[in-house]
Amino acid sequence: MIAIVNCGPFDARNDVDNQYEIKANNKVMGRFSHKREDGLAICLEKAAWAVADYENNRTVLCDYCKMSAKLVSGKQIYPHRKDLWKRKYWLCSRCHAYVGTHKNSNGKPLGRLANAELRAARALAHNEFDDRLWKYPDLSRTDMYAWLSASLMIPKAKCHIGQFEVAQCHAAIKVLRDNNGL
Ligand SMILES: [Zn+2]
Repeated sequence: MIAIVNCGPFDARNDVDNQYEIKANNKVMGRFSHKREDGLAICLEKAAWAVADYENNRTVLCDYCKMSAKLVSGKQIYPHRKDLWKRKYWLCSRCHAYVGTHKNSNGKPLGRLANAELRAARALAHNEFDDRLWKYPDLSRTDMYAWLSASLMIPKAKCHIGQFEVAQCHAAIKVLRDNNGL
């Protein structure tokens, strides 16, 4: 049995998002949000998208609102970066959170979806990192990451700014600014 279940906030006003689960025999296949004013056709279209992604084994949920993200082209994310238009991204249009995908992977996400706050924190950490590289020309990027991994006590394999959480970005910025032992 297929069901589309309203999960709240059960607000009957026309212009308020409610969240829905699409279930097949009680198993959740995807989640999406929908406003009453968008009408039944759009609701069913979103449900169909969620099921298609599930069937392709590509259900990616947004880390912030837990709704199904949608696979989009780089054109939608970076309209001014034609070089990225052919890349695929998972986008939650509700949170404007997104993540890139591995090349030639049929949409395998590179990590989790990042919202504007996380993207800004990572950009700051990258700037700080590059600043130090510029300041210490004898150190390679690998050397710097080895030092950062030891300073933050994050295993080398997981020590990549592009995969950091907000708190890890702030910690990285702090040790890079203090640069003790570098
Ligand atoms: Zn979201």
